[in-house]
Amino acid sequence: MTYATRIRRPRHATRLTALGLLLLLALAAACGKEGSPPVKGPRADQLPDYRVDTGFRLPESPTWRRAKSRGSLVVGAKEDQPYLGEKDPAGGGYTGFDIEIAKMVGAYLGFAENRVRFTTIASANRETALQNGQIDYYVGTYTINDNRKRLVGFAGPYYIAGQGLLVRADEEGIEGPQDLDGKRVCSAAGSTPYQRMQEEYPKAVLVSYDTYSICVDNLLTYQVDAVTTDDAILLGYAAKVPDELKVVGKPFSEEPYGIGVLRSDNALRLAIDDALQEGERKGYWKAAYDATLGLSGVPAPKPPAIDRYPAG
Ligand code: GLU
Repeated sequence: MTYATRIRRPRHATRLTALGLLLLLALAAACGKEGSPPVKGPRADQLPDYRVDTGFRLPESPTWRRAKSRGSLVVGAKEDQPYLGEKDPAGGGYTGFDIEIAKMVGAYLGFAENRVRFTTIASANRETALQNGQIDYYVGTYTINDNRKRLVGFAGPYYIAGQGLLVRADEEGIEGPQDLDGKRVCSAAGSTPYQRMQEEYPKAVLVSYDTYSICVDNLLTYQVDAVTTDDAILLGYAAKVPDELKVVGKPFSEEPYGIGVLRSDNALRLAIDDALQEGERKGYWKAAYDATLGLSGVPAPKPPAIDRYPAG
C-alpha cells in the first residue's frame, strides 16, 4: 500500500461508518418485534382507524368495479421514502403518510385496510402503471402538473411540498440551487425536481437513478455532492442519519401532491376528492400526518384546497 492510499484511509473509514449506520438502522427496523415501530418510524398506535363504508358503490367507475370484483384495491406507492412510503424489509408492510392517505381513501371506497394491497412503482413508471391498469390508484409524492394531467387524472392535492437540497452534514459550500454549478447533483428519473434542475440549473452535473435512496447512498459515499427532491422526502432521510446529512436552504418550487388515477375515470377521481375532503373533516388527515410525516419535525399544515377540475 502506498503512503497516498494509506493517508486516505481514515476518510474512507468515515464513509463506511455512514453506510454502516444506515444498514444498522435498516437491520434494527427489520429485527424489531412484529408490529413494533421501526427506529423513529410511524407511530402505529396513534394511527387513525378509518371507518369503512361497506355500502359504498361507484358503478360508473371501471376501476372501482374491477377492484370490487377482485375483492381488493391495488395501490401504487413508494417503498424507500421515510415517513411517506416505506416498506418493512422483514414483514413487507408499507407505512407512512402516503400509505395512510391511500388507506383512508380505500376505506371511503368500501375497502378495509387488509383489502388495500400496495405495490412499489418508481417515479418514472407511474403514468404507465395507471394507463395499463397495473394499479387502481397511486399515492406516492406525486406532483400534480399540466404535463402529467395529459396522461393521468389527479385527485387532491392533499399536501404541498417544495423542492429542496440534501447535503452531507459537513458540507459548507451548498446553501441553495445557485451554488450547484459544477457540482454532482442526484435526483430520480422522471421526477419534477430532476426536470427543474435540467431546465433551470443546467450548470449542475445531473445524475439520475430510479429512486432517491440510491441517490442518498451516493451522497454518503461521496459519489455526488447533493440530492434534490421534495423537502418532505429529504427531511425523512436527514432525520434517519442526522449526524451525516442535512437539508439546506429554502424550498424552491411548489409540489402539490395528488392521487393519480386513470385519466378517463373521472368518477373515481371525484370520489377520491370526496374521500380526501371527508378525511380532513373527520380529523383523519391530521391524525395520520401527526403519526407519520409530522415525526420529521414539521407541524401539520392546513390541508390544501381540493381542485375538482372538470373532465376534459
Ligand atoms: N414530487 C415530485 C414528483 O412527483 C418528486 C417526488 C417523486 O419523484 O415522487 O416528481
